Amino acid sequence: MTNTECPLYNKGLYIEKINQTDAHVAMCCMQIMSPEFYTNVNFHTNDYLEKIRNTDAKIPACVSCFENERNGNQSYRQGQAAAFAQQGIEQNHTVELKSFSYNCENVCNLKCITCGPKYSSLWYPEYKKLNYKIEQIKSSGKHNRIFESLDLSKVELMHFQGGEPLLTQDHELILEKISQQGNISDLIVSYNTNATVFPTDNVVDLWKRTKMTKLFFSIDGTGDQFEYIRFPGVWDQVNQNMKNIRDLNFPGLWIEIGLTVGVSNLFYLQDIIDWRDREFSQLHNGDPINIFINFVNHKLGRGGKVLGLHNLNDRTKSAAIEYLDSLTDKNIAASVKGTILAQQPNDNNDWIQYLDDLDRLRGTNWQHSLSKLAKYI
Ligand code: SF4
Repeated sequence: MTNTECPLYNKGLYIEKINQTDAHVAMCCMQIMSPEFYTNVNFHTNDYLEKIRNTDAKIPACVSCFENERNGNQSYRQGQAAAFAQQGIEQNHTVELKSFSYNCENVCNLKCITCGPKYSSLWYPEYKKLNYKIEQIKSSGKHNRIFESLDLSKVELMHFQGGEPLLTQDHELILEKISQQGNISDLIVSYNTNATVFPTDNVVDLWKRTKMTKLFFSIDGTGDQFEYIRFPGVWDQVNQNMKNIRDLNFPGLWIEIGLTVGVSNLFYLQDIIDWRDREFSQLHNGDPINIFINFVNHKLGRGGKVLGLHNLNDRTKSAAIEYLDSLTDKNIAASVKGTILAQQPNDNNDWIQYLDDLDRLRGTNWQHSLSKLAKYI
C-alpha cells in the first residue's frame, strides 16, 4: 500500500531544471528535492518518488508542511487537499499524475532582497561581488524540455514558478501539450508571478480555454518598500500591470496577492492591506482578491537566511507583536504572530550588514526606504 498522508504522494510531481539536460524532482515545490538529477522522469517508476510513496511513516522531506501546521498556518499539503476536493480528485493509492508543478527557467528581471542566484539570473553578478557562497549553480535550462517525455493527459492542476515564468516559453509549451494530450477545459493552471510581465495573446488564449487560471502576484510591499525589496521593480508599472491583467476579465480568472513576510516588510503589512482594500480588492465579477501569507524562505539565498522572522531580536519582536495586534486584517495578524512566537529568541543582526552591503552596490538606502524598521536598530 502506498502512503496517502499527502494527496501528492501518489499524484504530484515537481520538476526543477538545473541545466540544459538535467533536473531534480520532488512531489511539490515545498518538499526537499531529490539529491540525484535526472535527464528523463518516469512518474510511475522514478526511484525518489517511489521511495516516498512506499514509506509508511512521516516523510522527513516534507518538514516544511509539518512545521507550518505546527505553527497554525496552512501548509501546502492542506492547500492541495482543498484543491483536490474542489476538483473532485480522489486522494487514493492509485499512482497517476494529477498535480504537476514546474519550475521554469531561472530567468528573472528582478533581484529581490530575499532571493538569490538560484532563482534569479539577475542576482548572479552581485553575489559574486559580495563574495557570497553560491550553493547550487544552475545554468540556463532554456533548451531543457524534460517535460516532453511525460504523459500529461491526466493533469488537472498545473502550477508554474521560476524565476519569472512569464518571461519563459516553458509554461506556454506545457499548456499547449496539455491541450493536445488532455482536457485543458478541465485544467486549473496557476502561476507565481512577479507581476511585471503582461502575457502574450497566445498565452491569454490558452488561459481562456482553462477551467480556471489563478495568478498569485508576489507583492511584498507598496511604493518605496516594493522598490527596495523587489529591486529594480517599479511600483507604478507593476500596480498598473496587475490592473491590466485583472481587466482581461475572462471567466475563470482568479487573482491573489502572495505576500512573503520577513524582517524587511513586517512593519509595512498594514500599508499592503490598505492598498489592496483601496485599489485592488476584487475582480470585475465581484470575487475578492485575497492576500495569502508566505514566510521568507532560507532556501532562496543569503537574503532568505538573514531576513527570516527568526532573526528578530527581543525588542523588535515585542514591537512587532504590538504592531500586529493593530492590523485590520486579523487573519494576517494571527498567521504572522503565530510564526513569530514559534521562533526561538535570537540576537542575530546579520540582516543589517546584508542590507548595508546591498545599499553600497545598488545605491539604495534601506534606512530610508524601510524607515519603520530602522527605528529598531
Ligand atoms: S511538502 Fe507538503 S505538500 Fe509537498 S509532498 Fe510533502 S506533505 Fe505534500
